Amino acid sequence: MISLAKLHENFSTNDNIRELLTSHSIPINKIESIDNKFVYLLEKFLNEKKLTRDELLTLTQMPLSGVSFLMCVANNIRENLKGNLISFSKNVFIPLTQLCRDQCSYCTFKIEPGEGALLIEPEDVLESAKKAAELGCTELLFVSGDKPERDYEVYRDKLKSMGHKSTADYMISMSELCLEENIFPHSNLGIANQDELLRFKNSNPSMGLMLESISERLMDEGMAHYRCPDKYPKARIKTICNAGELQIPWTSGILIGIGENWEERVDSILELNRINTEYGHIQEIIIQNFNPKPGIKMEGQPVPTDLDMIKTVALSRMIMSNNVNIQVPPNLNSKSYMLHVFSGVNDLGGVSPITIDYVNPESPWPQIDLMQDTILEFGFNLRERLPVYPEYLSQNYIEKHIYEKALNFVDDTGFVRED
Ligand code: SF4
Repeated sequence: MISLAKLHENFSTNDNIRELLTSHSIPINKIESIDNKFVYLLEKFLNEKKLTRDELLTLTQMPLSGVSFLMCVANNIRENLKGNLISFSKNVFIPLTQLCRDQCSYCTFKIEPGEGALLIEPEDVLESAKKAAELGCTELLFVSGDKPERDYEVYRDKLKSMGHKSTADYMISMSELCLEENIFPHSNLGIANQDELLRFKNSNPSMGLMLESISERLMDEGMAHYRCPDKYPKARIKTICNAGELQIPWTSGILIGIGENWEERVDSILELNRINTEYGHIQEIIIQNFNPKPGIKMEGQPVPTDLDMIKTVALSRMIMSNNVNIQVPPNLNSKSYMLHVFSGVNDLGGVSPITIDYVNPESPWPQIDLMQDTILEFGFNLRERLPVYPEYLSQNYIEKHIYEKALNFVDDTGFVRED
């Protein structure tokens, strides 16, 4: 029988954790002052490893005064799974095209024809790949708007002149080109069908598509996903399941603070866990907080608080199976990412030494050295991974020629060789 009181005592008497919580105004209270229903549920989870949806929803009501108890439970899972290891990847970000047929209210990525290049030309993609590889990056993160060829004739014509019918065709061709360099493509195309994914698999060891939210309500007029055909949750779930059938190691995740409520947040995580239970291919989920920027439709929307993020991260760690890594983007949480590590996070995502985050251009990446120093101060070991996690580095998931190439980059732990 695991005691919550004992676990919390070990957690909160660690000097580093105590100082961290205090500096973020997170109180460390005695168990007697916490509502019995929360104590009961956390002890139940500690001993049975499972809670019902209703019980998880009750835990979303945890106030600030008791959140260190939720953290210690999620941190315990992370610790048992990963010990003192935190991972990240070194990447270059290639926004292959910033045209998009969707109109998300939080977007800062999309441009219209005439506001910039229709796409990044192949020679520029290749130059970036070579430069990134020289600087030691191992991940080439391809990102694009969703299906712009459906809305923009000028873009369709441009693709046609290059011998491509779609953004997917172009991204696949660029992935194949760049795989020849010392770097691995990780494509985030958007909605994709099985045939496209199968072609991607030949050059991508892993890929990604955020679920963002399971809420269809967000597609209503005035909501974040109004007029966004590619944000229809069932279409996104279908893509993630298609990838599952092909056993493509997959990065997914949710957005926090785009108008969803707690019930929808928990249901989104439960859905990702359901898909992973069926296919086993979800290598990580990203918990990404909405970050308002001047000029966007959601400019005035409040940002998620540390408490919102801690609870979402901790519940994600409690819900998701052990094979799933949990990530928060450190550039969107530069002052709080250690709080999230102690709430269950074990990965700090793709950090770019050479490109800005085009999706969140105002949020610079923390320098890798700085991040390493912080992590070390807390007694962790920061290891670089490929876009594909060590657990998925096998021919069961990735094509033989990519697998053989990957082996040249990693040591026997599956992380990038430190020499
Ligand atoms: S799908 Fe992406 S690029 Fe398109 S509008 Fe939404 S956030 Fe912007």
